[in-house]
Amino acid sequence: MRLTIDTGKCSGHARCWEAAPDVFDIDDNGYALPLDVEVSDPPADSIRAGIAACPERAISLH
Ligand code: SF4
Repeated sequence: MRLTIDTGKCSGHARCWEAAPDVFDIDDNGYALPLDVEVSDPPADSIRAGIAACPERAISLH
């Protein structure tokens, strides 16, 4: 599976990083850095938590 972030939708809440700092990374203003990585299927709980934490639905798993 592929995990990506649409940085155009990101509003800088840093919630993804708070939920899964080992997966997501943010800049100094709390905006997610671009991400496009292969992850296991099913994805780890931390990845699902990071996706669920994003109020902008900027994180996709496909
Ligand atoms: S939770 Fe969503 S909006 Fe907030 S930093 Fe992460 S990707 Fe951006």
